[in-house]
Amino acid sequence: QAKSSGKNTYRFFDPVAEEALCSLARMDADLRFALSNQQLELHYQPQYRCQTLIGAEALLRWKHPDRGMVSPAEFIPLAEDTGLILPIGEWVIRQACKQLQQWQERPETAELFIAVNVSARQFCQDNFVESVRQLLNTYGVSAEKLKLELTESLVLMDVEDTIQKMQALRSYGIRFALDDFGTGYSSLSHLKRLPLDQIKIDRSFIRDVPEDQDDSEIVQAIIAMGQNLGLNVLAEGVETDEQLAFLTELDCLDIQGFLLGRPSSIDKFETTYIPANMSRLGMA
Ligand code: C2E
Ligand code: MG
Ligand code: MG
Ligand code: MG
Repeated sequence: QAKSSGKNTYRFFDPVAEEALCSLARMDADLRFALSNQQLELHYQPQYRCQTLIGAEALLRWKHPDRGMVSPAEFIPLAEDTGLILPIGEWVIRQACKQLQQWQERPETAELFIAVNVSARQFCQDNFVESVRQLLNTYGVSAEKLKLELTESLVLMDVEDTIQKMQALRSYGIRFALDDFGTGYSSLSHLKRLPLDQIKIDRSFIRDVPEDQDDSEIVQAIIAMGQNLGLNVLAEGVETDEQLAFLTELDCLDIQGFLLGRPSSIDKFETTYIPANMSRLGMA
């Protein structure tokens, strides 16, 4: 420990650690600024069931003035550490509710849902359930339109508390997906107890399907398990026609991936993926 007073003052100075700390501190300050200065944006990636658009996953983007678009993989972990994920997470759900409010009013988008990623720290907050309820209320959004994506590690932090919160939110009509399924450690007994609607097969399993025998077996097993538990199964990261054909053959009908659509700004999403707009533009 460094002594800061007395005659012999020592400071252990590690330039590498110091610099890392500095850049983290700067990134934290920048992110704080970003949140209150409209540099954060939600992009939307389409989700399809049997070739029909059914909803979108909201994915956070940071439009950094110097660095361009910064990936959430880069700043979400930092925001988790500093606690900034709390106001950011609230902002994300609020934005999604505002979007749903607009979509609800137009016939061609009235049925679409939005899936929002929830971080562990955000979900663990005592007032999480109440804050989501209030946001739905404020924007007059029907709860069935909001889907929350949880990860296995979040769920495992405190299974009893998670189940309780999920049940409360579900009683309003909110639906739940287990994100990145297969990459965590959730046991089947937990899976059975969680009030889930959907599991999302992680894209690392989809990537080498159907060529890779092992991955193909795993994907097949996950789909069968999900179906036996009465869960909807979505495949993430579908990039090729061969992957789509493989999944369709196994009756995995919910698909998300670059093959069918990339995450896009709201304007691009609406002109590219909403059928009524597509035909208006002569694209359908
Ligand atoms: P995720 O929830 O698993 O989101 C899917 C990620 O896979 C997205 O990356 C998406 O762009 C990417 N992806 C989708 N289809 C394909 C495909 O066909 N091929 C490939 N190679 N990638 C595909 P993105 O947008 O960079 O987000 C990364 C992660 O950051 C998300 O993973 C999620 O865990 C986290 N994240 C994003 N937005 C939020 C947010 O609002 N709140 C929280 N807590 N986390 C977020
Ligand atoms: Mg997700
Ligand atoms: Mg995922
Ligand atoms: Mg992920």
